[in-house]
Amino acid sequence: MQKRLACAQALHDPARIVDGNREKVKTRLRSLRASALEDMDASLQCLKSVCENQDSRDFIYAGSAIDATHIIGSICGETRKVAINKSAVVSGELAPILAAAGFQVLTPYYDDLSDIEVRFAEGWQLPEIPFAMRYHAFEREDDILAKRQINIHEKGARDLVAVIGVNAVSAADGGAVLLQHRQNIGQMFMECREIILVAGIDKVLSTMDDAVFQTKLMAWFGTDSLALGLGRKSAPHVGLESYPFTIPPDRLSSKFTLILLDNGRRKMMERDSRELLLCIGCRACIKTCPGSRFFDEETLISPRELLFLSLLNIDRPLDRCLQCKNCRAACPVDIDLPGMILNLRLSRNKQLLPAPSDWMLANAEEVERMGSLFAPIANVLLKNRLIKQLSQLACGIDSRRALPSFATKTFERIYRESQSGSGQ
Ligand code: SF4
Ligand code: SF4
Repeated sequence: MQKRLACAQALHDPARIVDGNREKVKTRLRSLRASALEDMDASLQCLKSVCENQDSRDFIYAGSAIDATHIIGSICGETRKVAINKSAVVSGELAPILAAAGFQVLTPYYDDLSDIEVRFAEGWQLPEIPFAMRYHAFEREDDILAKRQINIHEKGARDLVAVIGVNAVSAADGGAVLLQHRQNIGQMFMECREIILVAGIDKVLSTMDDAVFQTKLMAWFGTDSLALGLGRKSAPHVGLESYPFTIPPDRLSSKFTLILLDNGRRKMMERDSRELLLCIGCRACIKTCPGSRFFDEETLISPRELLFLSLLNIDRPLDRCLQCKNCRAACPVDIDLPGMILNLRLSRNKQLLPAPSDWMLANAEEVERMGSLFAPIANVLLKNRLIKQLSQLACGIDSRRALPSFATKTFERIYRESQSGSGQ
């Protein structure tokens, strides 16, 4: 009831909802992520011992996506059919390798969404959900394993192996935390004959409370980005319903497998790219990115995925990043994605100096400050035909384009003057 009242209040009058929690949770999240990386080895060791003492789960460390594919293959046996969720670790890192290895890969997420109209192609089209409203909108459900037991006892299972990326793992008790937006993960959990959970090694946290907190934040910061690119699925589409319940209960085990995937993460820890592992996978960075539609031919990938896949030497067009820095502003952990994308691009091109256009984009604030300082001269030069042709050659700015003039006063200065009563 309280949640409904909070939502109704937010819809009726969003301005009345105080946004005071936002900065507080971001600070806690940053410190949590920094500790998770710092304590990674101890947490993995603790998780291993916990899992060894439990009958319900197997813990397996996979060094690469190919290793993980072999593990999945050995669990699948002859029936190489897997159902996956849309988490980046599974859909971005494992699914292409599973498909190349001849697995049939189903994404039941789209079954849930077949009746939803695809309205949003750009971040600016998305409705803004007040933060306080999200704060109350996610609840924890603990009994998913119990539900599986009841379901398979009654119906048996479909001849499919569920490969599900989890959002966080608790080292203290081996528990895995999943964020589900619709029903797809729950359905896979209850109906597939085997369950394989996959988490990056960076997603192991000390306690269950920390794992739940981090997962909730994924929802708080990333909910609206979900509505982007929902229509992007490959055809023809095969859903879970295409597989009847052919596996009887007596052939089913209550055990599940937890794969901890390295796949280049340890190397990233030792390099400048360590900061990328602070990521919680919320995809808030995709909403504000003007280039994301052009990062991949087939699907919508986030700036974080652009960089992560590139670091794994999977070819992605780093030069389509405009260096606008919107993604950094949106990121709850303040990850410098634009800086890392630019550095990787430069190291790939083996350039000592960036191209002038890259430099200008990366240093837009300095360029504007200088332009403002010398506004009378800069504005005359910007209209000069020769200068326009030179900037077309050097920076790719079309010489037919009339560029906006530089102002002599910055907004900050105008504001300060108005506050002190000396300006308009
Ligand atoms: S800096 Fe690059 S990746 Fe980040 S929002 Fe801008 S275009 Fe996208
Ligand atoms: S990099 Fe993107 S996905 Fe990762 S935490 Fe930041 S906003 Fe979220």
